[in-house]
Amino acid sequence: MTVRARSKAAVAALAGVLLAGCSALGQSQPTGTGAEVAEAVEAVEEPAPPVYEAIDLVPEELRGAARATVAQTSVLPTIQDFSASLVGVGGPSAAPAEAADPDGGDGGEATDEGSQGTRATRVSDRDDADEGTDCSVEKCLALTFDDGPTAGTEDLLDVLAKRGVKATFFVVGKNASAHPEILERMVAEGHTVGNHSWSHANLTGLTDKQLAREINRTSDRIEQITGVRPTVLRPPYGSTGPRVAAVAEDAGMAQILWDVDPRDWKVRDAHKVTKRIVQKAHPGAIVLSHDIHETTRDAYAKVIDKLLAQGYTLVTVPDLLDDMEPGETYLSQ
Ligand SMILES: [Zn+2]
Repeated sequence: MTVRARSKAAVAALAGVLLAGCSALGQSQPTGTGAEVAEAVEAVEEPAPPVYEAIDLVPEELRGAARATVAQTSVLPTIQDFSASLVGVGGPSAAPAEAADPDGGDGGEATDEGSQGTRATRVSDRDDADEGTDCSVEKCLALTFDDGPTAGTEDLLDVLAKRGVKATFFVVGKNASAHPEILERMVAEGHTVGNHSWSHANLTGLTDKQLAREINRTSDRIEQITGVRPTVLRPPYGSTGPRVAAVAEDAGMAQILWDVDPRDWKVRDAHKVTKRIVQKAHPGAIVLSHDIHETTRDAYAKVIDKLLAQGYTLVTVPDLLDDMEPGETYLSQ
């Protein structure tokens, strides 16, 4: 199923359901109320009762929720908390969420040309598609990794390369700047590099100017490093709305959320991460994980071996969703 979320309410609903997805969330941070979420996730115009606490509690409902006009309550930390567990370099930014990174990366502050993304008529009009894979008939699944790169990402790339598996990496712009060689390797080995904002900001909490800067600065840097401008955006925390959709559309990017979430940022146990992913896997799934965590990286040899044994073809997001359109939001095939 192709999930599209055009209405403001539907986008807000998706965001609320998915807010628990990123690594910084829900560990020691205070939790927001439903009202706070509704305020932060803009333009919830149509209140409605269904309450989704977390994506992995309601995968079936979620896959059918794209057009639902529901409000929601979920966990939303204050914006000051967002970057607490990020990896990468610090640096000036217009975003209020900018903060020092605990892992102490120290290199590669990006230049900021501030150029706009190139608009595309269809995101997936590309010439690098895997000609041998047809996900309309094959049992495809897309593995996605957020928040990197970090030095350990290379270990995960080794695991993927050994098995001939392609994945999608939604990188944080300043982490990409700190590890350009890893981005180069990703592209050289057939993976897709997507945009996860410059500083892992909650995009819905930014001004229009800040929002555009978070997205376009990151695309600029990715293109500068790899020669390839990203066509997929994953808003941090799954927090999106009409303004984010508009910027994504202008930049020629589809918004990619997920429908399988092992909550690897929280469990930090390779065995449990493996079990959760394999149990929840289904044809057409988009699986969320975070390559910044060693326990996640350690899980993936077994995850991939099990999925391959079950007959899955593991593909990049653009290969899974061959009809992506800029600005649209997708949870799965
Ligand atoms: Zn993230």
